[in-house]
Amino acid sequence: MTKKTLLVSIAICFGLTSINAQVKEYPKQAPMSPQMSEYWIPQPAVVTPVKSPQEALNAPSDAIILFDGTNLTEWESRNGNPAGWIVENGVFTVKKGTGDIKTKRNFKDFQLHLEWKVPVDITGESQGRGNSGVFMQGMYEVQILDNFENETYVNGQAGSIYKQTPPLVNAMNPPGEWNTYDIIYTAPTFKEDGTYRTKPTVTVIQNGVLLQNNTTILGTTEYIGFPKVVEHGDGPIVLQDHGDPSEAISFRNIWIREL
Ligand code: MG
Repeated sequence: MTKKTLLVSIAICFGLTSINAQVKEYPKQAPMSPQMSEYWIPQPAVVTPVKSPQEALNAPSDAIILFDGTNLTEWESRNGNPAGWIVENGVFTVKKGTGDIKTKRNFKDFQLHLEWKVPVDITGESQGRGNSGVFMQGMYEVQILDNFENETYVNGQAGSIYKQTPPLVNAMNPPGEWNTYDIIYTAPTFKEDGTYRTKPTVTVIQNGVLLQNNTTILGTTEYIGFPKVVEHGDGPIVLQDHGDPSEAISFRNIWIREL
């Protein structure tokens, strides 16, 4: 092979490789849908909890009272406007369409107590039945949902870390009765590059029954897609205005102890 022929051959070879690189196609990733991050089995076992007391339990002496039955002065809308939810007869109730509410204060590590219930005549099914949620540091949702004889995807039921970890059991009281949540939360720490140095963790007890046992939170609790790691500092407690047709969640007796 002459030198000229060799150079031509190499040029053709590179040319073909270049053409091949241009036309090669890889499989396209399917777009994420909500169903891709939901799973339904196994359903957590149903445990019959003790009935919550008819009267709200008093907060301990070192707690910050976030709602004592009278007003929403500790709360505001996510956008900073006054909280639009309805206070009546010692409880407050989601006013659909007015948006999430959040505490004016920000928190790091804490023990949180709150009580919630859905009306006795609630309708709807799956996620469309008394859906709300409590967000730690405004980032991570522990689901509030009426799962009394109402199945849904298990990583989205009451007491789940939403779209991450199902509750250990289903400890719902029936509609019209109060449920208690006691939540112990440890905030994450971050590296300089914005990823977790230590991940957030949470313990959730509903009606005296353990649902989350120091569970590691993987990131934000997304409706579509998977958890994201987003650097943040101290943040508020947020309660969700989910907007489903049967939404009418009421809350009472909310207090927090900073740790
Ligand atoms: Mg929710």
